[in-house]
Amino acid sequence: MSPLELNLILLGPPGAGKGTQAERLREDFPLAYVATGDMLREARNQGTELGLKAQEFMDRGDLVPDEVVIGIALERIQADDARDGFLLDGFPRTVPQADALDAAMADLGRRITAVLLVDVADEEIVRRISGRRVSKAGRTYHVDYDPPKHAGRCDVDGTQLVQREDDKPDVVLARLRKYHEATSPLIDYYERQGLLRRFDGSRSPVEVHDHIRATLATLRLEDEL
Ligand code: ADP
Ligand code: ADP
Repeated sequence: MSPLELNLILLGPPGAGKGTQAERLREDFPLAYVATGDMLREARNQGTELGLKAQEFMDRGDLVPDEVVIGIALERIQADDARDGFLLDGFPRTVPQADALDAAMADLGRRITAVLLVDVADEEIVRRISGRRVSKAGRTYHVDYDPPKHAGRCDVDGTQLVQREDDKPDVVLARLRKYHEATSPLIDYYERQGLLRRFDGSRSPVEVHDHIRATLATLRLEDEL
């Protein structure tokens, strides 16, 4: 493995700003972006068997079963464009998913560089998710925090912005509950492995990005020594 290979995981509650930070990090580093939520939504839009299977879980704010998600995520990190580094967003979300990732990385002779926890309190999560709007291509805005130049239209391709079905209030609460129950144990899991790095996600997107970049620069320096 190249010593400078960056294999990163973005961890945090729904709406913490993981996708927003991923967009910025991909401008800094040539990382394959692996977002299981995006992959599942794409499969659903195309009406594939995987998409149909995932839909009912996503619509009620539940997690898609481990055996379904593990398969697509592990296949993706072994694709050619991910061989020199990846940025996982939204995976792993359960301890069995993290175990499967660890086992696969060991088999591949690769290792996780760092797990970036972007943490935000629940009340702010609800504000963020309820104002989130997305374009068909998956670009993210916020009605107050990051509005498009023309209301309701994507700055990049002009398409209409919509609210995700699972961003509606009752589903958001179900997703948050699921996060605390099934995903937050991964904080300890990666802390024990010495991989966890914490970031205050309540800061502005620019500040969070600056902190992450500074941390990654230090990690790379340590790796070179
Ligand atoms: P968020 O913006 O909340 O981080 P995502 O786009 O990552 O949401 O995920 C949307 C939905 O897709 C989740 O609520 C869940 O139903 C499903 N999903 C995505 N990734 C996973 C995963 N690793 N395990 C199980 N379900 C997942
Ligand atoms: P996640 O991928 O973790 O679900 P997103 O990156 O989609 O989260 O962000 C959720 C919403 O909050 C979006 O509408 C986004 O524009 C907004 N947002 C992201 N980061 C911040 C931040 N640091 N401060 C305020 N709003 C933010």
